[in-house]
Amino acid sequence: MQVNRSLAQSVRELMPGKRNNGPNDRPVSFWKEMDRISGKPEKTAVVIFRTRGCSWYNFSSCSMCGYFNDVSDSVTAADLRKQVDFVLDQIDDIKSIKVFTSGSFLDPLEVPPEVRNYFMETVGERMSRVLIESRTEYLTGRNLEGIGRYAGTTRIAIGVESTDDSIIANSINKGTSYNKFLDAATTARKMGFETRSYLLLKPPFISELSAIRDVVRSVSMVSAYSNDVSINPMNIQRNTLVEKLWKNGQYRPPRLWSLADAILQSTDFGTEVVSYPTAGNRERGVHNDEPDANLLELIVQASLNQDFGELKRYFEGADLSAYRQELEAEAAQPYQVDFHRMANKISSGSFFI
Ligand code: SF4
Repeated sequence: MQVNRSLAQSVRELMPGKRNNGPNDRPVSFWKEMDRISGKPEKTAVVIFRTRGCSWYNFSSCSMCGYFNDVSDSVTAADLRKQVDFVLDQIDDIKSIKVFTSGSFLDPLEVPPEVRNYFMETVGERMSRVLIESRTEYLTGRNLEGIGRYAGTTRIAIGVESTDDSIIANSINKGTSYNKFLDAATTARKMGFETRSYLLLKPPFISELSAIRDVVRSVSMVSAYSNDVSINPMNIQRNTLVEKLWKNGQYRPPRLWSLADAILQSTDFGTEVVSYPTAGNRERGVHNDEPDANLLELIVQASLNQDFGELKRYFEGADLSAYRQELEAEAAQPYQVDFHRMANKISSGSFFI
């Protein structure tokens, strides 16, 4: 595994020191949304448990990850059990749930095994599908033993981000590698778990054209190890390296056209491809120069139904000449810049401050 130590240090310097963003006995958030983790569109509960956070925070963080803004160093196992009880009161007749933790549900230091089992025995037992997230290092046979026996099926979401180890190390600072993903996914699938692979569209320091190519190539490489692939376009989170670059005009989140393009090029690799963008059509999320609610909705509906026909027609019927020119111009620069943001900074005088 490669680690770029100076990148890791730059990310680390932006992270807040003490982290106590309570209340410790309530999840960070709980809501319901549509997804298709059981193979059809259905209402799905989503919980973000407040934990002590990702083990990677002890060293650094991924360059785009600001989930440390939600964690609390003082969360106890008793607090986590109360958070599980909170979820139990809210789920009604829901049959699928996605569990996020600002880290790894399978990290025993973040979610102690007794809490993990309590969740599975109470909430998990009532579900036909449970999706949990984990870094690759926790997907070992020993750590996975026993988890699968509760819910109908458990899908483990793995943040692959890219299959290019240089991007993983020098852009994302993930602290893992493509081979580690292969080992982890193979272990999980042999034990009867499903897997969802997360891929990141447009990590920093690479052009948007390269980012599209990277995602499409990555989908082709992870598809045999994934029940579905979620393409996650960058969204700008607080206190991250990506936020710093963005504020300086050195990074622009990807265009919606690019997300549509990446999805449409990835539908024939034998796995389901979904994308439910965070902050879509907003300044901090995936957006074209002009907001396009229609395009965003087509992406979400295509993801839910796995029918890409309408999205394809919309994409192919659009005049993309200005968009393509912008991408070519961006790719020709030695450094990635957000032209519009840079121009605004220069005209307001703030660029030189
Ligand atoms: S592994 Fe996940 S939770 Fe941990 S720093 Fe990276 S994106 Fe954030």
